[in-house]
Amino acid sequence: MNLDFKGKKALVRVDFNVPLDKDFHITDDTRIRAAVPTIKHILNQGGAAILMSHLGRPLKKLKEDGSIDREKFTLRHVVPHLSELLGVPVQFCEETVGEKAQAMAAALKPGSVLLLENTRFDAGETKGDENLARRMAALGDLYVNDAFGSAHREHSSTATVARFFGKDAKAFGFLMEAEVKNASRVLNNPERPLAAIIGGAKVSDKILLLERLIDSVDTLLIGGGMAYTFLKAQGGQVGKSLVEDDRLELALQLLEKAKSKGVKLLLPEDSLIADEFANTAQFHSAGSKAIPEGWMGLDIGEKARQAFAEAILQSKTILWNGPMGVFEMPNFANGTKAVAEAVAQATGKGAFSLVGGGDSVAAVNQMGLSDKVSYVSTGGGAMLEFLEGKELPGIKALA
Ligand code: AMP
Repeated sequence: MNLDFKGKKALVRVDFNVPLDKDFHITDDTRIRAAVPTIKHILNQGGAAILMSHLGRPLKKLKEDGSIDREKFTLRHVVPHLSELLGVPVQFCEETVGEKAQAMAAALKPGSVLLLENTRFDAGETKGDENLARRMAALGDLYVNDAFGSAHREHSSTATVARFFGKDAKAFGFLMEAEVKNASRVLNNPERPLAAIIGGAKVSDKILLLERLIDSVDTLLIGGGMAYTFLKAQGGQVGKSLVEDDRLELALQLLEKAKSKGVKLLLPEDSLIADEFANTAQFHSAGSKAIPEGWMGLDIGEKARQAFAEAILQSKTILWNGPMGVFEMPNFANGTKAVAEAVAQATGKGAFSLVGGGDSVAAVNQMGLSDKVSYVSTGGGAMLEFLEGKELPGIKALA
């Protein structure tokens, strides 16, 4: 972060879009913690921080009378915990922009922190509205974007606002820098062999990612629900496993492409199959291409776990996106657990590992392995788009 914050007010876009329980207590503060180093750096340098973030989708979840549910979506919920993490009392403004926000920003002393209200209370935010962005920009001397989780959105606070700051008055925060650096380590000149483990529910969500990865990886491991579309495309019997019948052709094309590029592609040889989609279902193991009618694959089987672990342990760079089974149900979490353990073990032996995008992040956290892998991304959709090779508006805006 190459900015001099001394005596300056930095407008910082953070990602405080944290999950809250019904009493509005934070149930996972990862995203808040991730922004703390940047905020502390600004304060330690003698600057003041004006923080802005969204929280949920307030305009999509209006109250019955059509008004915004301010009680539910206010960022005031994070003030006590944020103050505790920063070690300074955080001031809160119930406006995002406006006279009050301006007055509070203007009165801010070095070393102090002001949190603005949910950026998405204003309909202009998600449209990238320029007027709104101009009013945001007027609050600070410098702009810092540390909201990697929102970097794939071209919104007023994540992208448009940057137009109002000169090249040397805007920068990435530490989190944003780390996310980009770690993802780039996988994408550009990775140490080989490079393995990608891709799982999760649907092929259709990950087509671009798979296409891009087949161009660069040495090994591709496909697990989770999406594996059954590939297995069916190869002529396998997959029972009532999750299958996207309109993607069978695409699955064959991807398999063909992998073959022609010399990519070692592994599908789970066996699966844990269940008679219903529930943790209480009856289940046993079976060949993934010989699943009887009325049964569905909910996790990779023992042979697949071993084969996947072996491939992971032979790799020097590892990317993992998506669980290997329905890991939310304990009976079907073992495949995901085995992969998490293999990734941790490979990392212990010197490999670089990136866990990025959505549920695999939840899985490593749940299994207590997050500090045994090299990097756990905080940005679900943003990381996915970055890995797909898309230019993220939040990153482009600072170029
Ligand atoms: P994604 O968001 O695409 O990474 O998908 C994650 C979801 O895929 C999780 O909620 C898993 O429960 C689900 N999933 C993983 N494996 C399977 C499977 N074999 N059948 C159905 N759903 C699955």
